[in-house]
Amino acid sequence: MSAAISKPCIICVAITGSVPRKAHNPAVPVTVAEQIESAHQAFEAGASIVHAHVRDEQENPVSDPERFARLLEGLRRHVPRMIVQFSTGGRSGAGRDRGAMLSLKPDMASLAVGSNNFPTRVYENSPELVDWLAGEMRAHGVMPEIEAFDLSHIFQAAAMKRDGRIVAPLYVQFVMGVKNAMPVDRPSFDFFRATLERLAPEAEWCAAGVGRDQITVNEWCVAEGGHARTGLEDNLRLDRDTLAPSNAALVRRVVDLCARHDRPVATPEQARAILGLPAAAAG
Ligand code: ZN
Repeated sequence: MSAAISKPCIICVAITGSVPRKAHNPAVPVTVAEQIESAHQAFEAGASIVHAHVRDEQENPVSDPERFARLLEGLRRHVPRMIVQFSTGGRSGAGRDRGAMLSLKPDMASLAVGSNNFPTRVYENSPELVDWLAGEMRAHGVMPEIEAFDLSHIFQAAAMKRDGRIVAPLYVQFVMGVKNAMPVDRPSFDFFRATLERLAPEAEWCAAGVGRDQITVNEWCVAEGGHARTGLEDNLRLDRDTLAPSNAALVRRVVDLCARHDRPVATPEQARAILGLPAAAAG
């Protein structure tokens, strides 16, 4: 094994996606109350960032700012140290509706900077929409997490940082394992890392492995000095035969990987320092 990495590993838990639906794994939190409870457990297990979508009463993903507001309020009250990241992804709405919650000023929001295919459709992120979402994040002091579904998205993120469309420190997530987009592929992962390092050496990075390879991508990140994303949004199973009982259980898998690689798990305060986020508001 290579030398241990002393930089703490930030664990992000993606508690609730837009697919799959709760019926596929009853542990997926769907109501706001369930989401707060699940985020709290994941925080206790070692996660510093919660990435969230919201659903309506029929469990359909929505971009309803009122629901995001209730979630943010509950998270701030029950897990005040946790870094809150809202999804502006395209499964929950279309066009500028996707950024309607940014005025709530979560700590972070996901930002796709280019288009690609999803399992059954085009994930459409026009240059005009990307610039509008980035502008809303600047206006409200929300740090973007760039979702790189493709190599071109890394170049785009670096360009946006250079020309000032992104003012926060650059944080890029490589998303692998989405059907019809980038597969979980080690040479590509290494090339993504090397490309980001070349274009934006100061940037921090993480990666998400969607589906059964989640743990594989987690281990690559832990071993190579990146940060790790887990959670029921991306993967419903502990292994082929076992449904994950909770988001916290998936977080514990990453904590165990960190222990095995002799890598410290970031506290929320360390995570804020690494990402360049201001300290959490007291109380
Ligand atoms: Zn998401």
